[in-house]
Amino acid sequence: MGRYTDAVCRQCRREGEKLFLKGDRCYSQKCAIEKKPFVPGAHGRDRRGKVSEYGLQLREKQKTRRIYGVLEKQFRNYFTEADRKTGITGENLLILLERRLDNVVYRLGFAASRKEARQLVNHGHFTINGKKASIPSMLVKVGDVIQVKAKSMESPKFQEIKDQAAYKTPPEWLSVHVDSMTGSVLAYPRRDQIDTLVNEQLIVELYSR
Ligand code: SF4
Repeated sequence: MGRYTDAVCRQCRREGEKLFLKGDRCYSQKCAIEKKPFVPGAHGRDRRGKVSEYGLQLREKQKTRRIYGVLEKQFRNYFTEADRKTGITGENLLILLERRLDNVVYRLGFAASRKEARQLVNHGHFTINGKKASIPSMLVKVGDVIQVKAKSMESPKFQEIKDQAAYKTPPEWLSVHVDSMTGSVLAYPRRDQIDTLVNEQLIVELYSR
C-alpha cells in the first residue's frame, strides 16, 4: 500500500489547520501547527491573497484525503461509488470513508490515530465476526463485530490501549465493550454523527467539473 512520505505534521501545516493525524501529540503544545501556523516552505509566511474557487475545492479534497489517509486513486473510487448510490453524494462519500476498518478502529478508541489504527490492522491484531481482518480499507457493515485478538491482548501495547479506551466515547453509530475489546457497528453514520471538519460539497463540485 502506498504511503505518504511527507512528515506527517507538514500535511496539517499545508492545509493551515489541525488534521489530528498523530493522536495525543495533536492535543499537546508539541503540535507543529501551534508552533508554526503557516504553510511550509521558504515562502510559507508570505503566501496570501485570494484563493480561487478551484483552489478551495482542491484543498478541501486534499484535506479530506489526508485526514482519512487515502491515496488519490482510491479516493476517486470512493467518490465514484458515492455518486452511484442514492442520497447526497458528499454525505455518501464521508460515510464510505467512515466505514473503513482503520477509521472504525480509531473511532472505537482502539488506536490513538487513524495512522496507528492502520498499522495495527495491517499487523493482524483484529478480527471481524471472528475472522481475520488485516486490510485497513475493508468496509464494515451494520452488525459487524470488531475485536482485538486474544493473543494481541497479552501485549503491553494493547493493555495500554485498553486503559485509554475506557476514557473514550465512540460515536453513536458504534458501541464498545472495553472489557472484551469488542466494538459493534449499530448503523451507518449520519452526516451529523461525523465530526470531521470538511465541506464535502466542495469535493463534489471539484469532481463534477
Ligand atoms: Fe497535525 Fe497532530 Fe501534527 Fe498538530 S501534532 S500538526 S494536529 S498531526
